[in-house]
Amino acid sequence: MAGLTETIYLNSPVPVQQMIVGMYGWWWYRRRFSRSFHQLVAEFKTRERWSAEQFADYQTERLGQLMTAAWRAPHYHRVFEQTGLTPDTPPRIALSQLPLLSKQTLRTQARELLTESPVPRGVIIQKSSGTTGTPTEIYYTPEMHAFELAVPEARNLNWAGVNYRDRRVMFGARKVCRFDQPSPPFWRFSPAEDLAYASIYHLSPQNLPSYLAFLREFKPSVVMGYPNALNILAQHALATGDLPAPAKAIFTTSENVTEQLRANLEAAWQCRIYDRYGAVECCFFASQCEHGRYHVSPEVGLIEILDEAGLPCPHGVIGEVVATGLQNTLQPLIRYRTGDAARWAVNQSCPCGRQMPILESIEGRIEDLCYTPDGRQVLRFDTVFKGVSTIREAQVVQESLNRFVIKLVPAEGFNEEDRARLRENMKLHVGEVQTDIELVEAIPRRSSGKFQAVVCKLSREEIEQLKCVV
Ligand SMILES: [Zn+2]
Repeated sequence: MAGLTETIYLNSPVPVQQMIVGMYGWWWYRRRFSRSFHQLVAEFKTRERWSAEQFADYQTERLGQLMTAAWRAPHYHRVFEQTGLTPDTPPRIALSQLPLLSKQTLRTQARELLTESPVPRGVIIQKSSGTTGTPTEIYYTPEMHAFELAVPEARNLNWAGVNYRDRRVMFGARKVCRFDQPSPPFWRFSPAEDLAYASIYHLSPQNLPSYLAFLREFKPSVVMGYPNALNILAQHALATGDLPAPAKAIFTTSENVTEQLRANLEAAWQCRIYDRYGAVECCFFASQCEHGRYHVSPEVGLIEILDEAGLPCPHGVIGEVVATGLQNTLQPLIRYRTGDAARWAVNQSCPCGRQMPILESIEGRIEDLCYTPDGRQVLRFDTVFKGVSTIREAQVVQESLNRFVIKLVPAEGFNEEDRARLRENMKLHVGEVQTDIELVEAIPRRSSGKFQAVVCKLSREEIEQLKCVV
């Protein structure tokens, strides 16, 4: 929902909101779970038995089609000519020679990337608001949209042994009710989808018992959403013994899942987490298999992990995820800089047997990469919080090269010993730095509702300087 529709929805009384969610869910269900959905899911499952060579051949063929289409887009036509490509350049060679596509270009020149004008009927334009205020426009053809919907069913839900027919609860970015709604219900139902949308914006201590009571009554088999929102519930549940109904699987997305967070969620719902990673631009999808490893779905996008010079990172080394979406021939995204940091697993084989490339981890946003005084890059601080169980939430902020601030929401019992341990852990993890610990009541989310575990405030100049010294 956007703009006016959302305003009308949020200002309606609860029964009207409930009716709108129900109708929307019914429309969506019919649209989503069509025959093509089931067929696409079956095809995804068949391809899971492919060899690495089969996937590579598939990607080369799709890339060829993408490049052919891209010649028709004004932006790519220009770039291809500047790069010296011809329509006969083999697609993989062409790809390796092309410059990277920035988020800025996508935001300001979305239409220049289109391969057809006027835009064909039935195209969906997905707008996502960035931090700058100019929304990014992603154009989806109906075929691509169907494809995008089938991926998580086949490669996330099915891997956990559940499907879209299982009862679900979703703790996502959606504004389910007004921010100033004082009392429950903070959830709305979509009977057609057997799904409840729960608000992540009302998870205050006084509301948590009502959320948990609702979860016990609704008994969802599948729990989905932002891991840090779910963690607020899980921590309260575990501390008080006021547990939700056990579920079959938890699906998390968009934020890092730390070890502690995973342990909390799995203990509260008594089932496993299957984390996934994707982007609204639909050029990248990775999800955890039964063995907890992140497999990339090669049909969605061709992934490169590149260092700052634009060269491929060796396995095990952090770099930026650069993705080429293989399905969107209407608005090709070729070598698109996702802004996310990840690394390939050194060991590319998995006991599950799937020959789909494996990521060791998805680290966070590349712009939040922190630096130690000796020049190492750090994006995850999980180990700093090891052994300190009296923290509800924490955010690590690098203020300068030698100074970090840990903002934290303390749980009962947080004491001087915990402070000392955090400082000690920071020393072991980062080196000789000053660590200030700031107790806060809450850690503000981004406008999208996402939790930000790490913030780097170093300027570009400071980072450049550091590299020269090291
Ligand atoms: Zn696997």
